[in-house]
This record gives sequence, C-alpha cells and structure tokens, in this order.
Amino acid sequence: MKRYKVAIIGAGPAGYFTAQALNNSADAERGFQIDMFDRLPTPWGLVRSGVAPDHPKIRTVTKVFEKIAAEPNYRYFGNVELGRDIQIADLERAYDVVVLATGTSLGKKLGIPGEELPGVISAADFVPWYNGHPDYASVNPPLEGKYAIVIGAGNVAMDCGRMLALVPHELSSTDIADHALEVFHASSIRDVTIVGRRGPEHAAFTSPELRELPKLEETDVFIRPEQIADAISRVGARIESEKDLRSNLEAMKEIAHAEHRGNERKLSLAFLLTPLEVLGSDRVERVKFAVNRVENDKVVSTDEIVELPCDLLITAIGYKGLEIPGVPNERGRIANVDGKVREGVYVVGWAKRGPSGVIGTNKSDSSEVVKRIVAELPATPKGVGAIDAHINSEKIVTHDGWSAINSVEISAGEALGRPRRKVVSWSELLSLGGAKST
Ligand code: NAP
Repeated sequence: MKRYKVAIIGAGPAGYFTAQALNNSADAERGFQIDMFDRLPTPWGLVRSGVAPDHPKIRTVTKVFEKIAAEPNYRYFGNVELGRDIQIADLERAYDVVVLATGTSLGKKLGIPGEELPGVISAADFVPWYNGHPDYASVNPPLEGKYAIVIGAGNVAMDCGRMLALVPHELSSTDIADHALEVFHASSIRDVTIVGRRGPEHAAFTSPELRELPKLEETDVFIRPEQIADAISRVGARIESEKDLRSNLEAMKEIAHAEHRGNERKLSLAFLLTPLEVLGSDRVERVKFAVNRVENDKVVSTDEIVELPCDLLITAIGYKGLEIPGVPNERGRIANVDGKVREGVYVVGWAKRGPSGVIGTNKSDSSEVVKRIVAELPATPKGVGAIDAHINSEKIVTHDGWSAINSVEISAGEALGRPRRKVVSWSELLSLGGAKST
C-alpha cells in the first residue's frame, strides 16, 4: 500500500475535516499518515476559542475531532508555530502534502477617527478573551458604564452582544474562562446595541441565532418594528423565493413585536447606521453615525447624523489572516486557486476562502480540496522523512500531552457542574502537556 505523509497546519475544524476526508479516501491501495500542527498546546481552533460558551451544542463537533485523533495514523504537534518553530520549506521537503488550515485571526479595523480610544476593542480580542485563549487572558475589556455598542450585523457581533447582555449566572455552568466570568459578574453594562450599516434584509445573522433571542429570560430584546416593516416592503416578492431571507425577517419581526418583561438588561438590534467617529476625551463616550436609507437595494447615507452613548465599543466587522512567511497572501487570505497554493501545498477553511461560513461549511469545503489533493498525489510517496528532526522535541505537546490537559480541565469542571474549567496560562498548559516553552 502507498502511504502518503500529510502535514495539516492548524488544528481547527477545517484541519480536522481535512483529516477526516483524507481518511475517507484511503483504500487498499493508498493510505495517509497525518501530522497535525498547531501553535497552541490545545487543538480545536475556533471550536475552543471562538464558539460562544452558551452554545455548547456547537461544541459537540469535538466528538468527531476526538475520533480522528484516536486513529493510529494521527499525530498531534502542539505548541509548534509555522514560521517560528518550523518553516514551510521544511514541511514541503518532509511531506507529500502540506495543508494550511491556519484560519484568519486578526480583526478588521473600521478606519474611523477615535477607533484607538480606550474602551474600543475588536471582537477578535474579546471573543478569545472570554473563551480562555492563552494569548488573550490579559485583554481585560472594560465592562464599566452602562452602554455597549457592537458594530457589525453578523453572528460574531450577535455572540458579543448576547454575551454582554446575558445575566452572568446564565454563564456559570458553561466553560467560559474564569477570568471572564468574574468580569461579567462585575459588569455594569445594561444596555447593548448591535448596529448594522445596511438594512435588516442585508444582515449576515443566521436565523437560529436570531430565534434564540426572544428566549432570553432576563434580557429584553428590541428591534424597531418600522425597520422590519420597511425591510419587508423593500424586499417585496423576494421574501417568498429566498428562504434564508424570509426566515431572518420573520425572526426579526417576532423580536420587534415581542412583549418585554421589563428586565433591566436590554439588547437592541439597530440598522442603517454607518459609524463615522468614536467620540470621547480620554476614552469612548459616544459614537457618531450617519443615518442611511436603502435605494434600489443599495445603501446610501442621508444628511442625518445620530450620536449614541457608549462606554464600550466592540467592532465585529470580520477578520483577516496573519501572513505566513513563504506563502503568498492576497486580500487577507492565502492566495490559492480552488484550494491549491502550489505543487504539494493546499489551503482549507477561512485561510482559503476568507472569514465566512459556519463550522459545517468547512466539512464540504475540506472534502472538495481533498478530492483535488488525492487527484494530484505524486505517483510515489516520499518515503521516510523525519520532520521531528527539525523541531525541538521537548517543546512539543503531543496528543497524549493534550489528553492530559483535557482530563485536568474536565475534572476541574465536573466539580463545579461545568463541562470543563479551561487552563488559560501558557506555562500551566505546557507543564500539564509535558512540554517546555523553548
Ligand atoms: P460576517 O458574517 O461577514 O459579518 C460581518 C458584519 O460586519 C456584516 O454585517 C458587515 O456589513 C459588517 N461590516 C463590515 N465592515 C464594516 C464596516 N466598515 N462598518 C460597519 N459594518 C461593517 O462576519 P462575522 O460576524 O465575523 O462572522 C464570520 C463567519 O463566522 C460568518 O460566516 C458567521 O456566520 C460565522 N459564525 C457563525 C456563528 C454561529 O454559527 N453561531 C458564530 C460566529 C460566527 P456588510 O454586510 O454591510 O458588509
């Protein structure tokens, strides 16, 4: 049997779905040895550090990842960073195929005056902070004052807005980072507004996320009914033929007409406002917006300006990728043609297509790229090439190392009625994982 060696860089959903598709395409003639690398000691990428803690069902996909990791053809190399600990050229020499699944981790900037004021943070920092990513443990977002604004009408903005508006005891039984739970408990934020620059009909939220909002027991959720009525009249007959659009607008209409319980905590969705400037003397105090209207499905600004009070501003307007040395980058992602970067090097997930799509999107996307990989495999595998020689073995967190971290987290969580209690310091992660930092 021909045994091909594949390096997958990035242990998030796109990386695991690539491994799964490779395993599914193995047969009597051809098999794969899969080495998965991640710069963190812990695998699972956004499933660990992106998915909101109050969405535990989404995290159950880790069962699939665990099954892949338990296969004898899988090895994990945690705490190994591409460009720092290992170079792409070394990987290309040692493996038949290199698959980049490195995601996109930098938050896009609004590029407006005042964005650098204290009290303005990117969802790209806020989300990994509450999820216990070790690089973000010290973000410490200032949840002081009453008003928070989240810019963006996508699911990340929705997660940020909901996390800020929830009563903290609703998070106590989740795997949220301890430091974040403490800050949410002390938070004085009571009025959160998620702001989209286009209309409700253009919002990037998905309807399951919208439909859970009226179920929040201790937060009243608001949308101005006229914004939804106007959107419905603008889309006209499209509402019949476009299922997602219909589902979103129906969900928003339900929110707009819901009865409110008089809760102290409020979460509002506002549309047709383009942020122009963040105002404040030594920290954010207000945000200035241009009021927009929709003309022939295009958004145009009017002369009207509004200012909303703001003590915390979160920008959730999308992501771009970190550049990887030796790999071409274009428009915030790795340059590729249908997943191919160059001979023997491929890319999957957000690093391939940009930051769009839910976790499941990566399954079909990775399968497509794997079809291409398999079709383009060299006639003869490279034979034995030891990547291990290029990496200081003392610093690697292996699969056993990760399993040790995992067990400690799960047992610490069990004692508190939580799914896990995350370890958030690098030194503790490395020591539990049996690795050295250098
Ligand atoms: P997204 O869905 O692309 O939404 C980005 C939002 O930011 C859009 O509303 C966009 O408005 C707005 N925006 C961009 N630039 C802006 C600017 N300069 N000023 C004001 N607004 C601006 O991105 P995302 O929310 O980061 O989510 C990324 C992907 O992850 C999505 O596919 C999402 O569904 C997925 N995700 C899923 C879940 C879940 O399933 N629960 C959770 C989190 C994320 P325009 O449309 O006008 O450009």
